[in-house]
Amino acid sequence: MYTDLFLALLNRHNARGHPILSALVYAFCPMAAHWWLAGADPVPPFDPVWKSLEDLASGETLMEYLVRYGFDGLIEEIRTYIREVETYRIQHPIQAPELMPLFRGGKIPAGRRFGSGNAINNLGGDWRNLFVYIRTWAFLSQDWRIGMQIPRDSNYTMTGERVLLNLPLARLPVQFNVWVWKVPVGHVRETKIGLLGSDQNQNQLLLSLMKRCNPSGDQPWPNTPTLFTLDRETGEASHFDQTLSDKDLEKMVQSLANLARNGPYPPLNALRQPSICKGCGYRHLCFDKHFLSPHAMAAL
Ligand code: SF4
Repeated sequence: MYTDLFLALLNRHNARGHPILSALVYAFCPMAAHWWLAGADPVPPFDPVWKSLEDLASGETLMEYLVRYGFDGLIEEIRTYIREVETYRIQHPIQAPELMPLFRGGKIPAGRRFGSGNAINNLGGDWRNLFVYIRTWAFLSQDWRIGMQIPRDSNYTMTGERVLLNLPLARLPVQFNVWVWKVPVGHVRETKIGLLGSDQNQNQLLLSLMKRCNPSGDQPWPNTPTLFTLDRETGEASHFDQTLSDKDLEKMVQSLANLARNGPYPPLNALRQPSICKGCGYRHLCFDKHFLSPHAMAAL
């Protein structure tokens, strides 16, 4: 899922055709850049990890949210799932053992789901989202905290914030949503920025831009933020390992922005890694009867 990118495309403060955002969206998929520059707004699919972090950051409890969404009849099953994961993690001390096929938890029989249609619609209408939402709240958020070396009792805060991505070539910055952990250390607060993604595929362009970002408020960062990629599957938090040199960043952004403006626009993800299209806000435009087969999307 690329919720942060699609939120930036939908943010009315970010001009359509902004070179930084054009470069980011073209690097994601040239076809997405085409749709955006043609004036189409993306429709990001429901992201249970993002939603869970949003709710977690509010300070209320998991059970309060689940009851509010209408899962009050399934609280016992949900508690059982959490206990099953806890037990499985103790029995199998590896990263996220509950992802192994042998883990049998995280299922609610069809008969027990009856009457929860409205509740599951609050989580994108897919029962798999319920367990991703719970797992993110109860386990992944703690895995990431540990991976970022934030002690549980450090009085840290976690919030969703907008940061500003700047480069000299652009007159205005791009607003971009990120997850920020602030950890008191002595008289200052360490800032750690987490980008949801995958451990193996760090988004070099975005992270290199993020390295020089500013907060959107009046106050500058008390110290330079540390950047992490937070793996939304395994719960690993990886320190940003920069391979794109700072001196090449602006040239790279400029050339990607030129490509976004002039094309070509191959649907690269559909051709190379179509599973990415499932999380794309433009899948409804690409997978129609005139362009890519809708059957291909149904099969993903
Ligand atoms: S649906 Fe796939 S091919 Fe189309 S813009 Fe999105 S990622 Fe690219």
